[in-house]
Amino acid sequence: MPEVREREGVRVLERSQHCLSRSEISENALKVLYRLHRSGFTAYLVGGAVRDLLLRRRPKDFDVGTNARPQQVRHLFRNARLIGRRFRLARVVFGNEVVEVATFRRSPEPPEMEDGETSDVLAPPSESEEFGTPEEDARRRDFTVNGLFYNIADFTVIDYVGGLEDLEAGLIRTIGPARERIGEDPVRMMRAVEYGARLGFRLDGPLEEAIGDMAAEIHRAAPARIAYELMESLRGGQALPIFQAFERHGLLQQLLPETARTAASPRAGLLWGLLGRADAFARAGSPLPEAALWAALLAPELVGWLGAQGADGSAFERAVRDLTGALATRLVLSHHTAHLVRNTFLCLWRLARPPRGGKFVLRTMRQEGFEAALRLAQALTEDGAFPRHSLSVWQEAIQRARSGLPPVPERPAPGRRRPRRRRGRRQNTAGGTA
Ligand code: ATP
Ligand code: MG
Repeated sequence: MPEVREREGVRVLERSQHCLSRSEISENALKVLYRLHRSGFTAYLVGGAVRDLLLRRRPKDFDVGTNARPQQVRHLFRNARLIGRRFRLARVVFGNEVVEVATFRRSPEPPEMEDGETSDVLAPPSESEEFGTPEEDARRRDFTVNGLFYNIADFTVIDYVGGLEDLEAGLIRTIGPARERIGEDPVRMMRAVEYGARLGFRLDGPLEEAIGDMAAEIHRAAPARIAYELMESLRGGQALPIFQAFERHGLLQQLLPETARTAASPRAGLLWGLLGRADAFARAGSPLPEAALWAALLAPELVGWLGAQGADGSAFERAVRDLTGALATRLVLSHHTAHLVRNTFLCLWRLARPPRGGKFVLRTMRQEGFEAALRLAQALTEDGAFPRHSLSVWQEAIQRARSGLPPVPERPAPGRRRPRRRRGRRQNTAGGTA
């Protein structure tokens, strides 16, 4: 990286010294940054967006940090809503893009979930301890590469935490001692492994060691946060490298023991194959539905029943109930999600045999979880783990049903009178109403 301006432990890259270009920042995020700046506030692009833009990757979203208090942010933007505990985060909503604006804070507390739920690991700080300087805000963040700021006032990149060096070196390193930061919030173990796999970065030695020793502490985190991180990893287009890294670092065994057992068995190939398919779907812009993604983690343990001649449906149902029940309990999935995952498998069972008739097809298509099952069946078929013939019979039936035809072509029953021809009937109806 080119020469940098040093300012008491801060590194500042002038505009000419970095590749972060305003043209890569969403218009809405720019609007927010400029309006804060023109109103006299400090306004930085923060977190993952700065990291990704410096790596010439497309950010998932754009977060803004400012010294404006949440109420001041709300007054500046008509389209801002304050959310979270004590309403301290502003979401500025533009159609389907949301720019999150957070006041610089000093607390090391992990960010809140969408619904305001937080980890039970940390007690909330008192109001007066809450807000801080930009430097404090950088230091409360998890990893050095996530602690960089882009200042809209002069287009500089500001680094209080050594993030630029680690970006160059391809290194995930905690801000501060690894054990301490993981102790504060064990979800950071998952996040470290995710970033490593997603960016192709190494984990810093002490961080890797700490994860190896502390993996079991992940159970101190709120299950909802674990489920959220898992789903982010499953649907982001890099599930395969991330889950393989979870396994290598001993986290999969803690997070999903059933899936970890699969990964250590001859069925591992099917598990990795499915996650690879899920990634391909996500990257092609048609990600698998959530239920299919949860189901993919359990599917290798259940697909053995699907193609089997004379397999016992009620034994299959019991196995589905046991496995999905264990997953749902551990991650405290909603009843609805658990129901969708279970139903996905029950629909998968139906799809594994040619349909019994048109009504059966229509009834099955109305089942919740059917879409997820169909997509999962497609993925499994490509891995040779699903009866290809019956899937193609179903696909044809579904296509017919969707274009308004009887799903299964009507055939005269043997030895009975031919039913009246459809065409004739339709013409009559049309003639009658005309
Ligand atoms: P992504 O590309 O997945 O959105 P991101 O880095 O933007 O990556 P977010 O989960 O959106 O990650 O969080 C935004 C920023 O908030 C992070 O870059 C990091 O600085 C900070 N952050 C998030 N989670 C934590 C945590 N558990 N502890 C400390 N800081 C965190
Ligand atoms: Mg983000």
